[in-house]
Amino acid sequence: MQFKELGLNKPIVKAIAEKGYENPTLVQEKTIPLVIDNKDVIVSAQTGTGKTAAFALPILQRLFDKQDASKKGKKTRALIISPTRELAQQIEENFNTYSKYTSLKTGIVFGGVSIEPQKVMLRKGVDVLIATPGRLLDLHKQDFVNLDFIETLVLDEADLMLDMGFIDDVNKINRLCHQQKQTLLFSATMPYKVVELAKTILKDPIKIEVTPTSSTVKGVHQLLFYVPKEQKIELCMHLLKNSIKGSLIIFRRTKYGVDKLEKILLNNNYKVDSIHGDKSQDLRQEALQKFKKGEINILIATDVAARGIDVKNIDTVINFDVPNISETYVHRIGRTGRAGQNGSAFSFCSADEKDYIISIQKLINKQLDVIEDHPYPLDPQAKPEVHKSPNSSKYRKGRKSEASKNKKKRWY
Ligand code: AMP
Repeated sequence: MQFKELGLNKPIVKAIAEKGYENPTLVQEKTIPLVIDNKDVIVSAQTGTGKTAAFALPILQRLFDKQDASKKGKKTRALIISPTRELAQQIEENFNTYSKYTSLKTGIVFGGVSIEPQKVMLRKGVDVLIATPGRLLDLHKQDFVNLDFIETLVLDEADLMLDMGFIDDVNKINRLCHQQKQTLLFSATMPYKVVELAKTILKDPIKIEVTPTSSTVKGVHQLLFYVPKEQKIELCMHLLKNSIKGSLIIFRRTKYGVDKLEKILLNNNYKVDSIHGDKSQDLRQEALQKFKKGEINILIATDVAARGIDVKNIDTVINFDVPNISETYVHRIGRTGRAGQNGSAFSFCSADEKDYIISIQKLINKQLDVIEDHPYPLDPQAKPEVHKSPNSSKYRKGRKSEASKNKKKRWY
């Protein structure tokens, strides 16, 4: 199928051709006609499937067909909500690329940076606004955003949005928009809470599902190393020295783990940087840019900070910690082997992570290849470590930090 057949007009088709897309991806083929037809849609698709263009292209098409005559005081007619700043920026890049040959304007607002330039941009007016929830509501409260004319609302990465505690904000944003609007919900996974959100916000939505999880990981060599927890760093260094070449993302569960590994790799002269939620927006952006430009070849990240980031041509993913949620494994390794290339995923499993591997294998319906021939094997009899604090009973209850007790949203 061709983009023209999907009902997209010339300026948009020209921009797509220039970008080098020859044919629509499956999610685009299924979603674009429905969005043009003003339907509410729930799309279950992961990053890498072309899902951003699946909503960006038909939104631009609709806006293009009914362009604002007056140049001054443009009304914002499409609103895209994204859980993280990096994703929001990626979506903005997509919109800018595809609208190159139109006069449609896209703006972006997110937290962690100065609000003033965003106010100036909003004053000038944009057709499409991309936003993270907190900053959008802040600007709305200060009367810099008018959501009365929103015709299409997109909730991107809805599962992550809810995981990050944005449910109230999302509901509020929905209420602030016109009730006749079209709503599109994109989510990598469809847990119960996303389905519930969809029920309250969308009207007779059409469901689209692409890439069942097992096929997403088809082109990736998945290798499993059983290794004692305290020797994972040695194993990582050994593989970096002997087998891993090219660009690499290493996933760790915690910010502390990311920092620790980064220090060790830097001390060993590797070109490395990291992203996690405690780093400022500028530092995260800088790390990503360096990775994208090839100035560094190793990026260490927590899951949430890295979710959805579109970095091409990643050769290898290391699951330094095995994720306790199986879908996370699929997200992580889905970053390699993009666009028909083969990638590799190395998972380091210690005694206490064996159960996670069992669930992952169930989800992807595949046994991982166990590499036994390495210098730091795990004793098959090794039992999970149990950390017993002398005061364990005292701390057994209420392990939540003050921040989470206060319902702090950015927990990652
Ligand atoms: P996404 O799933 O939106 O993060 O997109 C993943 C990558 O696929 C991005 O780098 C897009 O530029 C690229 N892409 C999107 N649509 C197409 C297409 N029809 N043909 C080729 N590449 C595409």
